[in-house]
Amino acid sequence: MTTVAAYAAPAAKAPLERRTIERRAVGEHDLRIDITFVGICHSDIHQVREGWGEAIFPMVPGHEIAGVVSAVGPGVTKFGVGDRVGVGCMVDSCRVCDNCRAGLEQYCADGPVWTYNAVGTDGRPTYGGYSQQIVVDENYVVRIPDGLPLDVAAPLLCAGITTYSPLRHWRAGPGRRVAVVGLGGLGHVGVRIAHALGAEVTVLSQSLRKKDDGLRLGADHYHATSDPRTFEELAGSFDLILNTVSAPLDFAAYGSLLRTDGTMVNLGLPEEPVHLVLQSLFGNRRSMSSSGIGGIAETQEMLDFCAGHGVAAEIELIGADQINDAYERVLASDVRYRFVIDTATL
Ligand code: NAP
Ligand code: ZN
Ligand code: ZN
Repeated sequence: MTTVAAYAAPAAKAPLERRTIERRAVGEHDLRIDITFVGICHSDIHQVREGWGEAIFPMVPGHEIAGVVSAVGPGVTKFGVGDRVGVGCMVDSCRVCDNCRAGLEQYCADGPVWTYNAVGTDGRPTYGGYSQQIVVDENYVVRIPDGLPLDVAAPLLCAGITTYSPLRHWRAGPGRRVAVVGLGGLGHVGVRIAHALGAEVTVLSQSLRKKDDGLRLGADHYHATSDPRTFEELAGSFDLILNTVSAPLDFAAYGSLLRTDGTMVNLGLPEEPVHLVLQSLFGNRRSMSSSGIGGIAETQEMLDFCAGHGVAAEIELIGADQINDAYERVLASDVRYRFVIDTATL
């Protein structure tokens, strides 16, 4: 066991505060990673506030982890000390179910072991990346290519893979029109990846106040959803809509923006049930879907793709004492476009 500095929520809705946690000794197939940067995902906030249901406290959030390997177990074959690595939303899974065998560990039949707010295979609570070190089985760690600086790579471990996976699955590319709803953490990376894949990209944001940024990030078009004309003008336009909004939307209105056979993939996970109007789908064989992060191999593929296409997150680097303020700014849609914690300040 090693004692490491961390930032934790002691109870639901409580502000995060400095504390220490224990990390397990480096096992046969484990890596010890010295965390250098960790992103703040809106999912951290949902969970700290128990918006998705009962949670485990104290909670050390953080599943956009970038760092450097500082120790390896005797059975480790893929990584060595000094390697630049990332850890995303999961740190283990059953490894034998159909989904695990297919590289879809995020859909493990037993549920993957989430990086925090979960119970590990050793029966102990998992603690996330708002900490100085983490110990993870090498099979749930990915390599960060040399071309990607660790601070702007960290958010790719969740925001990157969560948008890359559905963009690939629903074949975003040349000749396909993709809309991204919400220009926040997921949204801004989604715009960059969709653009890099060659799709025609539209941002649908609450207002036009981030329009210049959206166009600079690679969007071809930018519309305000507060303007009712947007829904008239864009009716029947999109092959694919990525919804990254953390609150429920008017799904009938957004569904009407899909072309025949178009799909709206709902990545945002609101805290309350949503209302679906099927009449907005049946006429054009439209689909409403969802998608969760991506598998381990796909996460590596995403990082390699991003390095090859110059895609990374646009970040605001903060110290540990700014975490609680950053949460408030994320909740107010005042993030440009991902807060990343410098773990040296823990
Ligand atoms: P974020 O940085 O807060 O971005 C969400 C964006 O949605 C905001 O910046 C804002 O963009 C827009 N928005 C917020 N409230 C809105 C409202 N009431 N109506 C319309 N638009 C609104 O959050 P994030 O980190 O990208 O995460 C977004 C959601 O995805 C969260 O629910 C998170 O838990 C979920 N998530 C899911 C997965 C998955 O695997 N499916 C993975 C990671 C995160 P504008 O100002 O441009 O409108
Ligand atoms: Zn996340
Ligand atoms: Zn499994």
